[in-house]
Amino acid sequence: MAKLYFTYGTMGSSKTAQALMTRFGLIERGQKVLFLKPEIDTRDGQNIIKSRIPGLEAPVEMFSNADDLLEKYNFDLLDIDCVIVDEVNFATKEHVEQLKYIAEEFDVPVFTFGLRANFKTELFEGSKRLFEIADTISEIKSPCHCGKKTIVNARYKGRKIIYDGESIVIGGNDQYKSLCYKCWREGKLDKK
Ligand SMILES: [Zn+2]
Repeated sequence: MAKLYFTYGTMGSSKTAQALMTRFGLIERGQKVLFLKPEIDTRDGQNIIKSRIPGLEAPVEMFSNADDLLEKYNFDLLDIDCVIVDEVNFATKEHVEQLKYIAEEFDVPVFTFGLRANFKTELFEGSKRLFEIADTISEIKSPCHCGKKTIVNARYKGRKIIYDGESIVIGGNDQYKSLCYKCWREGKLDKK
């Protein structure tokens, strides 16, 4: 039986690059990959995922909050060997349960990549469900400016960390930086 995998990390920890490299490695071995992403994030345009590494990009299929993945894709007929989902934190609880079903019932491994928590340090819906039901969970570690491991995706404006507000502000002026919990709590955006 195939597994549901969840790889998480903070922003800038190369999650998307790893999703793209996973896809590349599988295709190189002759596998057919269904590459998916929730529709909420359209930074890169509708149908392409780009990493920060120049040239590392791939076409992607988007699904919306209302989509049922089992209805949208007929896995009985679909000739694929595995599924990869980037930005899976923006998926719903139901999507994650559908991905689990795909792994179990169609014997198709599902590799998901995303953030653990939002800027308030609260779990995203998709990530929460993945922590609950993924078969294999791994963390991509990246260091804070102080040297500790980052676990928080801090949102900030100017020099000030924002601790409250709407969870998802795509294309807003606010910026994000990965920090350890202590630096986040103390408002230390960088070494100064
Ligand atoms: Zn720190």
